[in-house]
Amino acid sequence: MRAKEHSQAYNETGTIIKNHGGKIRIGLVFPNSYRVGMANLAIHSLYRWFNANPDIVCERYFLPDEITSKIPRTIETNAPLADMDVIAFSLSYELDALNIVRILQMCGIPPLAVDRTKGPLIIAGGAVAAYNPHLISSFCDAVLMGDAEPVIDELMNSLIERQDVAEIPGMVTTETIIDYKNRQVARDLDRLQVYSSVYCADAEFADMGLIEIGRGCPYGCLFCVASHCFRPARWRSFDAIMPAIREMGQYRKKIGLVGASVTDHPQILQICDELLSMGLSPSPASMRADALSTDLLALLVRGGTRSITLAPEAGNETLRRKAGKVVTDDALTSACLRAKQAGINSVKMYFIIGLPGETDDDIRDITKLTQRIMKETGMRLSAGCSIFIPKPGTPWANEQMVSTSNAKKKLNLLKSEMRGVTLTTENPREAEIQGIFSNGGMEIADKMIKIATEGKMSTAEMLTILSEK
Ligand code: SF4
Repeated sequence: MRAKEHSQAYNETGTIIKNHGGKIRIGLVFPNSYRVGMANLAIHSLYRWFNANPDIVCERYFLPDEITSKIPRTIETNAPLADMDVIAFSLSYELDALNIVRILQMCGIPPLAVDRTKGPLIIAGGAVAAYNPHLISSFCDAVLMGDAEPVIDELMNSLIERQDVAEIPGMVTTETIIDYKNRQVARDLDRLQVYSSVYCADAEFADMGLIEIGRGCPYGCLFCVASHCFRPARWRSFDAIMPAIREMGQYRKKIGLVGASVTDHPQILQICDELLSMGLSPSPASMRADALSTDLLALLVRGGTRSITLAPEAGNETLRRKAGKVVTDDALTSACLRAKQAGINSVKMYFIIGLPGETDDDIRDITKLTQRIMKETGMRLSAGCSIFIPKPGTPWANEQMVSTSNAKKKLNLLKSEMRGVTLTTENPREAEIQGIFSNGGMEIADKMIKIATEGKMSTAEMLTILSEK
């Protein structure tokens, strides 16, 4: 397939195709499918920032749904990924670290950095790298810990000048001892915008333009990476985001407002109001019960919102308070009541099981809370339940994760109690692997290579390899 035909096969708007001649070629890789990766704002933003530099050409690669023997080629020009000067991975989910190994293998590149003497420079960043860069440091020449914005210019200059990127602040190698003080923090989010720039039909949230309006969260729940690994909580101002929203409005009528605690944005009413006056619909990615005012709910309903999402995490106030989540059952119920009165009929609630100190009664309280809300508001309720994973850099980093068998028992108890609620639960074995990867580093690199090399494997088989001495 010729280069132009190859990129057209994706039926995208906004694809950037540049001549390679005399430029540094960056292969920007999301180590999961096109569908998931095209909903990732780091990919959109890095693509735009890199390509804005006249000395750089940046092309994307996503993992195909079926891993084949075909060599990985970029979307834009069908160029072999292995021929790029730089391969840059963005990792936002721990288990995708295995796909980094797989992609390097598919390129014919030795996955361990120490085994390489030639070939592209391999770098990585993303949310996981912000709290556990050593999960992937063995496979990379350098990993960026934290936000990209403060170092993006220096990184591009180093690549163009072919200097050592490991010298850049926040860059971690296998030699580096992790010190969270070195994590890069973009103090002024207004300087660079993070939003969708390539539009396609085959992506999660394909009907929306997405824009990050805040990073971090002011609430500090003890288990939460969004709060503790992306401190301090910061917002992008109304004036700074509007030009990007106007640009996105040419392609999509629905605008997804992205961030950990979007409804707390100090200008959220002004943003939603302005979007509506432009004929666009605001869609906040996260909501907090106390912040769901009648005014905000009215604006969201005018924009077509038919459902709200809340995250009580625990079924009662005692466990919630212990986890640092300060929201009462009354506040949750009255937020749902206000939503119902505004014309919203359904609520999705997120819970976590396995929190430190949790008892069976705490799990039964999840059911009681959902029953109370349905009874007092008349709303339809669906619930998602995940399993507590201690994450590095959070106050609960050293807490114990519940065993897989215990997690199954707790989830079974929850399932047996729930009535009239659509419940989706996390797979306990997958959570166990995620727990190992969240806290694992160079010592599991060889096991990760073994798993990646074996090809398709069940979670039980993966756990057997990970527990080998
Ligand atoms: S409110 Fe949500 S995003 Fe904020 S710290 Fe708590 S769990 Fe994290």
